[in-house]
Amino acid sequence: MHIYKVGGAVRDRLLGRPVSDIDWLVVGATVEDMLAKGYRPVGADFPVFLHPKTGEEYALARTERKSGRGYGGFTFHASPDVTLEEDLIRRDLTINAMAEDETGTVYDPYHGKDDLDQRLLRHVSPAFAEDPLRVLRVARFAARYAPLGFRVADETLELMRQISASGELQALTAERSWKEIERALMEARPQVFFHVLGACGALHELLPELVDDAQALAALDQAAAHEQPLHVRWACLLHGLALASIKAVNQRLKAPRECQELALLTGECLAQGNQALELPPTALLELLQKFDVYRRPQRFEDFITVCEMVVQADGESSYPQAKYLRGAAAATRAVDVRPLVQAGLTGQALGEALKGERLKAVEAYKRS
Ligand code: ATP
Ligand code: MG
Repeated sequence: MHIYKVGGAVRDRLLGRPVSDIDWLVVGATVEDMLAKGYRPVGADFPVFLHPKTGEEYALARTERKSGRGYGGFTFHASPDVTLEEDLIRRDLTINAMAEDETGTVYDPYHGKDDLDQRLLRHVSPAFAEDPLRVLRVARFAARYAPLGFRVADETLELMRQISASGELQALTAERSWKEIERALMEARPQVFFHVLGACGALHELLPELVDDAQALAALDQAAAHEQPLHVRWACLLHGLALASIKAVNQRLKAPRECQELALLTGECLAQGNQALELPPTALLELLQKFDVYRRPQRFEDFITVCEMVVQADGESSYPQAKYLRGAAAATRAVDVRPLVQAGLTGQALGEALKGERLKAVEAYKRS
């Protein structure tokens, strides 16, 4: 049995980047061999094991063949006679198809090292087209390695065009797509992900709402430059869409709740945020209420951040509305409900009185 480090661990070490998780490949072993050594089996689809001590993933070498539409349409063949080269050829990119043994010797049958040097994301074989998720993976790697000067090889982009045109991207589950999108959004240059998807026609298939939306990408770029969290980046990306489109995208991709919520609220309230200084007290209070700023202060803060990113993407350097909105939020949050309760108010009457006090607080804030 031979054990190799494969994929990202080899690639990132050669690039001099930190290696986060290590994927291991086992050649020349059976499932029984692995169990006998104490590895714990995981995954129903293919033979992957967890190391009894480190918990890292060890996969038996396998070949695969397309047998139907989508990701489920694969048949796997894992056996001790599958060679290292046979396993590596089914991988997506040449830079991901290198292996390293325990002595540090790198096995590179598909010339990933050359492509690392040339800064090229190149597919390993025509079998690339068998899993449409690879279109998203390549775009994600393009976003990640753009600062290092990487680009997608012309012939790979052409293959990605063919996959997009075939309609196969529609067979991806929302879960698999979102996982790639989420990781891409958190890269240093997430806009590159969308540029690449646009260039190969995949954006038209997956997120037609964002085709040619330069403002969306500029806002996302700002959010990434400021190292904002996922939900802020998502809301920046969708900020210019109609509410119905934001809803549709959220649902189609099954974005997490926090992402969905902030994107929707931003779509609804961005204009008011920008007009904050001119809003009459009642409208300003309504905005604060909509965000439930009393119980969810961070959500309103995130909204302000999105507004700032969007305006900065437009070339504006200052956004006085931010400070003003924060001040208004603080003023209403400072209203004390206890005197109203002590005065015997309950239920709807209490709610109305509280709102009245908060309105007074906003009015006072506006005058100050
Ligand atoms: P990351 O740094 O994002 O973890 P990675 O290259 O390690 O990058 P993984 O998703 O951990 O990516 O996968 C490990 C390896 O498995 C990849 O390097 C690649 O060789 C292979 N691989 C993973 N997913 C696919 C896929 N959909 N098609 C082909 N090969 C894949
Ligand atoms: Mg990995």
